[in-house]
Amino acid sequence: MARTKFVCGNWKMHKTQAEARELVRALAPLCAPLGGKVQVAVAPPFTALAAAAEALRGSPLELGAQDVHWEKQGAFTGAVSAPMLAEAGVKHVIVGHSERRQLFGETDETVRKKVGAVLAANLLPIVCVGETLAEREAGKTLEVVGRQLRGGLSGLQAPALAAVTVAYEPVWAIGTGKTATSAQAQEVHQALRAILRELCGAGADSIRIQYGGSVKPDNAAELMSQPDVDGALVGGASLKADDFIQIVRGALR
Ligand code: PEP
Repeated sequence: MARTKFVCGNWKMHKTQAEARELVRALAPLCAPLGGKVQVAVAPPFTALAAAAEALRGSPLELGAQDVHWEKQGAFTGAVSAPMLAEAGVKHVIVGHSERRQLFGETDETVRKKVGAVLAANLLPIVCVGETLAEREAGKTLEVVGRQLRGGLSGLQAPALAAVTVAYEPVWAIGTGKTATSAQAQEVHQALRAILRELCGAGADSIRIQYGGSVKPDNAAELMSQPDVDGALVGGASLKADDFIQIVRGALR
């Protein structure tokens, strides 16, 4: 089944409001000629969301956030809720990024609650899964990503699952310059698709599975040429307009 490829830039803790405006203003005109053949989003830090939303207005470039709390409001110092993100113009929310799992105590259970909150606010979750190097070397990759996927999506039925994007991000490839080979990525994506079929039948064929982990202009096209690699979640290379747009163009090849 043909799925529109989806490339999202995860800016992590980079870019002030002024820098976000500048990068979005550089990207937006480059996205317009894509004619919707690739879906493109950027996920700035919370403080730059409003500036980015304003700068991308009227362009096909979409806005994402990097995290969310599962409650709508309350005594959760430092947290931001899904309705707050929706009001800021956000469409996509990254949930369960490995940095959140490793540095901030994210678990499959908090991922599940966050995915529920994102969907309840009519936003679209990008659910990240990925194994560490030790887990890969122990032959546990499919077991780990399978557990993370089932845990993060548990309780969701077919119509809700249609709104989900999955991102396979091997932890050993994030920010390290080491990329999974296209064959390694395809193997895991195919296994994730099989789990999605168990969860929602034929609906799994329309769910996008992005690859993330040191995606660069020179490896993006090859990775996204694999049958189950439906786009990319891009960290470092999304911070420069030229690199990011070359990656986006790689999705067209
Ligand atoms: C990420 O943070 O989601 C990521 C894939 O980072 P990088 O592209 O820098 O490896």
